[in-house]
Amino acid sequence: MKAVIYARVSSKEQEREGYSIPAQLEACRTLAGKRGYRVIQEFIDVESAKEAGRTNFGKMVDYIRKDGVEVIVCHKVDRLCRNFRDFVTVDDLEASPIFVEEEFPDNASGKLTYGLKVLLAKHYIDNLSDEVKKGMRQKIARGEWPHLAPYGYRNSGPGRTLQIEPTEAANVLYMYRTFATGDFSLQALRKKFREDGLVYKSRSRVPAKGQLENMLKNPIYFGIMRIKGKEYPGSHEPIVSKELFDKVQDVFRAANKPKMTKRTFIYGGMITCALCGCAVTAEIKKGRYVYYHCTGNRDGCDIQYIREEELVLQFDRVAERLNISGEFYDMISQSLQASTQDEVEFNRKVEARLSKRRETLRKRIDQAYVDKLDGIIGEELWQQKSSQWEKELTDVDRQISALGTSGLCCMLQGTRIIELARNAYPWYLEEDSTQKRKLLQILASNYLLDGRNLHYSYKKPFDILVKGLDRQEWLGWLDSNQRYRLQRPVYYHFSLILPG
Ligand SMILES: [Zn+2]
Repeated sequence: MKAVIYARVSSKEQEREGYSIPAQLEACRTLAGKRGYRVIQEFIDVESAKEAGRTNFGKMVDYIRKDGVEVIVCHKVDRLCRNFRDFVTVDDLEASPIFVEEEFPDNASGKLTYGLKVLLAKHYIDNLSDEVKKGMRQKIARGEWPHLAPYGYRNSGPGRTLQIEPTEAANVLYMYRTFATGDFSLQALRKKFREDGLVYKSRSRVPAKGQLENMLKNPIYFGIMRIKGKEYPGSHEPIVSKELFDKVQDVFRAANKPKMTKRTFIYGGMITCALCGCAVTAEIKKGRYVYYHCTGNRDGCDIQYIREEELVLQFDRVAERLNISGEFYDMISQSLQASTQDEVEFNRKVEARLSKRRETLRKRIDQAYVDKLDGIIGEELWQQKSSQWEKELTDVDRQISALGTSGLCCMLQGTRIIELARNAYPWYLEEDSTQKRKLLQILASNYLLDGRNLHYSYKKPFDILVKGLDRQEWLGWLDSNQRYRLQRPVYYHFSLILPG
């Protein structure tokens, strides 16, 4: 079989063990030899941090199309596909990709797993770069607040961790206790604070309403750090108890309870007219039928009225399209786990080797010092040797920390996404319309109505999953029953915006 080899490295990755181009090529050639492939061309991309262009990836794609290549041999998935678009490009080729480090079964689940891994590698990198940059990640893991101290605390001590600022902390506690009684609005609480002779800050004696609300909703005061929507346990001393915090949240909820004066419609405020961009509202006709229509009617938009019952069916499809059968789910999660184990195993081996090297270097450095003291080696030689070993030691340490646990993260995220998707439809069927509406807003956005059909785009990462599930269908991978279900006419507008 005719094969090509593809290897890629970014300047950053060159530091990582096993990522160099020669190492990748070596591994690919070995695999090709073992399987009896005839390698007719090798393509290499070395990327700098600034230019992300992959000139040779494009050349390879052209080459494969022209020369009838059957196999692409590559070290790992993330070498070949940087994002889901690359995955689709490769997937559209006649040649099938083979990976040294990861094996995907040649069936529907293998294909979807491979796609999910591409997706998650991208997610993982995104997460790394914006949320958990290097030290910040470790800081958060140690329970240390990575930003400036919030009101009530000071940054001090090693690692500038949070220390209680007694006067401010007393004010925080006062606000929580007083508001928890439920007898005060935010405005009334500010007034009482002033009347009780308390001082917020030297320059502003009373917190602004917004500041006060943020303070009363910030879980950091009972020991939880909320960072970009996620919660992490903090190592700092809490100011309020969890019970008090919860009580305050209950007061907020009670104050916000919608007054049920008007009849509410399931999809009210959710849909936009596809023709004129006006809001779509609902009204009751003949005392009992609920109709949805565009609010731009008077300005000449003439899309038809649509019965709520018809819309319900179309909205149900949003959740239904994510439905994964139990059997299919098991296949995906199993192969996701298996392919991750390979990566974990690989990382473990590399780490063992690096640790041994570190041990050797440490011993040498110690021995050389003793030799210098004993007069066996001279000062100059000792200086030269020990600085060389110290440098190598730093390098080894850096390689070890770069190994990380990307594989595990990938697997956990992947399992969570398919778990979520699998539960979505059964859960949806059980729930009342308020909950259904919530789920629909989580899964997709841009609900547009053209008078007859509902159009929408799935949110990430459900878009990828649906695309994956739809792909199975046109590749003829599903049995006839499942195919029938998916081939029913679907009215949706699929967003073609892919990640990366
Ligand atoms: Zn309209």
